[in-house]
Amino acid sequence: MKKIYLFLTITAFAGLLFTACQDGTTTSNGENDTHAQTVSDISDVYSLPDLPYEYNSLEPHIDARTMEIHHSRHHQGYINNFNKAISGTPLENMDIEDILGSVSQHSVAVRNNGGGHYNHELYWSILSPDGGGSPSGELAEAINSAFESFQNFKDQLQTAGTTQFGSGWAWLIVNQNGDLQVTQTPNQDNPLMDVSTVRGTPILGVDVWEHAYYLHYQNKRGDYLKAFWNVVNWDEVAARYSAAKR
Ligand code: MN
Repeated sequence: MKKIYLFLTITAFAGLLFTACQDGTTTSNGENDTHAQTVSDISDVYSLPDLPYEYNSLEPHIDARTMEIHHSRHHQGYINNFNKAISGTPLENMDIEDILGSVSQHSVAVRNNGGGHYNHELYWSILSPDGGGSPSGELAEAINSAFESFQNFKDQLQTAGTTQFGSGWAWLIVNQNGDLQVTQTPNQDNPLMDVSTVRGTPILGVDVWEHAYYLHYQNKRGDYLKAFWNVVNWDEVAARYSAAKR
């Protein structure tokens, strides 16, 4: 009799565990996995970077709830799934830029989640509560030279963001000729990837996935993109421009 009870208890416990893990099932874009971090044999090469500002500090342009979910859930999800995808492989010891540059040779999970991690880290860094205005110095000159005016550049980026069908990103990159160029990518792809039609080093990126704006702007992606200019950290973009030119 005792044996039967023990068996039933174990079976019930296993069933509960199984059920508990169902809501953390990995999706193809890796958005919802909340269990990866608790699995001890998964590598932890990558971890969620702290934001250098508060979730509410970009308001009213980007709202606190969006920032919190975007950073603590979406970005964390990409990191968990990227760690899982590279765990026990030589990619654990490669720079992320090199992984993305050879992404056609890796799994879809590496492409989606490695891209997801890289893109969000860049996005947080080029936002600031003290942002906005316009760039100066070398970057301003390069923008004027490539796009004729700062306004033309903004219009091009706005167009790239609004015309990206479905989820994706709009970018300002230093292309392979060393020139500034505006481009767009779907999903979590980016211009570092060897699968990207336009390649280069991204120095500014704007997330146009609905999760980046839908709570506050609903379907009005264009309004989010207009507001984005008020929180761009041009010092960071300029630093990335200098580094990319070297
Ligand atoms: Mn995002």
